[in-house]
Amino acid sequence: MARIVILGAGISGHTAALHLKRKLKKRHEIVVVSPNSNWNWIPSNIWVGVGKMSKNQVIFPLRPVYRRKGIEFRQAKATALWPEGDENNPQGAVDIVYTDPERLGDEERLTYDFLINATGPKLNFAATPGLGPDGNSLSVCTAQHAEETSKEFDKIVEALRRGERKTLVVGVGHGTCTCEGAAFEYTFNIEHELRERNVRDLADVIYLTNEYDLGDFGVGGMQFAQRGFVTSSKMWTESLFRERNVRAILRAHVERVDPGVIHYEQLDGTKESLPFDFAMLLPPFRGADLKAFKRSGEDITSELFAPNGFLRVDADYTAKPYDSWTAEDWPKTYQSRSYENLFGIGIAFAPPHPISQPRTSPNGTLIAPAPPRTGMPSGLMGRIVAQSIADRLLSNGDAPLHKASMANMGAACIASAGASLKNGSAAAMTMYPIVPDFERFPDSGRDLKETTGEIGLGAHWTKLLLHYLFIYKAKARPLWFLIPE
Ligand SMILES: Cc1cc2nc3c(=O)[nH]c(=O)nc-3n(C[C@H](O)[C@H](O)[C@H](O)COP(=O)(O)OP(=O)(O)OC[C@H]3O[C@@H](n4cnc5c(N)ncnc54)[C@H](O)[C@@H]3O)c2cc1C
Repeated sequence: MARIVILGAGISGHTAALHLKRKLKKRHEIVVVSPNSNWNWIPSNIWVGVGKMSKNQVIFPLRPVYRRKGIEFRQAKATALWPEGDENNPQGAVDIVYTDPERLGDEERLTYDFLINATGPKLNFAATPGLGPDGNSLSVCTAQHAEETSKEFDKIVEALRRGERKTLVVGVGHGTCTCEGAAFEYTFNIEHELRERNVRDLADVIYLTNEYDLGDFGVGGMQFAQRGFVTSSKMWTESLFRERNVRAILRAHVERVDPGVIHYEQLDGTKESLPFDFAMLLPPFRGADLKAFKRSGEDITSELFAPNGFLRVDADYTAKPYDSWTAEDWPKTYQSRSYENLFGIGIAFAPPHPISQPRTSPNGTLIAPAPPRTGMPSGLMGRIVAQSIADRLLSNGDAPLHKASMANMGAACIASAGASLKNGSAAAMTMYPIVPDFERFPDSGRDLKETTGEIGLGAHWTKLLLHYLFIYKAKARPLWFLIPE
């Protein structure tokens, strides 16, 4: 019996665990290691952050699901990999430290036959002094953060009702952040909510971003063919900002957040200070900062992981100028080049290069979005890596690996712009491929027919439906596997 250990029970790791169990049944052991006892449908944290959903509507306990499915669960966090084993045992192993209150602080070296690193992002608030809930700004990255942010938002609404003028800033808290789509969503959800609560007039809503243009979203923007015309995500997004009277500050790197003041630098090198009453700024992401060792104890962390802490997989990481990067550089199987029983999926794998053009200010500050890895590709990677491992275990070990390159994968993304069954709206975007391929699509790198953008009430209903569908699927209810990633 082989043991497959999955680090992380988020969108990619949990998907991988459920598919592995479905394929392997009781023949092999599946162990999930994750520090949180709950699963979180992170996209709906945006609605928790404006009080439209409660924290309990976006999370559920993992243990009962894993018990029902026969998956082992360790509430713990991984700290180090021993891909060749240690001096006592040549089998690959991972060090874990329990966060489970009943075993808090206990350490264990867990051996494995296959290891999937699905540890997602470390929320790197420390990259910007004063950033984050322990500093001077708010976050919606976890359900807990979002609940706290909603309470602060209520206080702002109360002050607006008393006739006070307030400035609300939403955006990203560092020049190299990703997840601009989530910041965009939260901006338009608070804007919508202020209107719903009849206090919009005295509120200044500002979107603060590292994007070069609106509509970049870390994917270099999109072009669409609509009714015979080619339009762009830039034009489309700009018109939404104008229509909703939201001011955008572009090309910004937040240097520091003091109480009530954001200090930022822009791509032209100028430095500004922005006073605020409410600021929700996303942090930059890095990998979970796992260490890695050879049997001898030699530290091989920098061989296995990129400097940003993400796991190197089957991508081309050769340093090249931006114009020389190609779609082919992107990973296909998510298998480590160093160890064939080690995989990295979701946000945990190291992208080979940015998708949006990297740009540097005259002061040498990099101000450019990092590539996003949204829910759909993360889930898809979870599924194909589960299939690859299952095929290898069920064959004589040499079954070909399944492939899902982001340069050959489409994505649908629905960005909420206000939650209400009657007056809500959302921006529905599809793109193919996620990573532009200028050899196949010389004009914009993407298929203009498969890349679309639409905003309206229907998209809000779809987003709401997806909330319930994905939670149903994550709970592994009957026929869960028919719901696509
Ligand atoms: C506010 C917000 C809104 C978003 N909205 C959308 C959206 O509308 N649509 C969309 O497609 N995407 C959205 N995303 C992105 C989406 O959430 C990610 O793409 C997705 O969660 C990535 O999946 P993952 O499995 O890689 O990481 P995660 O889902 O973050 O899971 C990582 C898991 O690893 C665990 N972990 C961390 N460290 C360790 C460790 N050392 N050992 C073991 N386990 C560890 C974590 O506890 C967690 O369980 C949003 C993101 C944010 C922050």
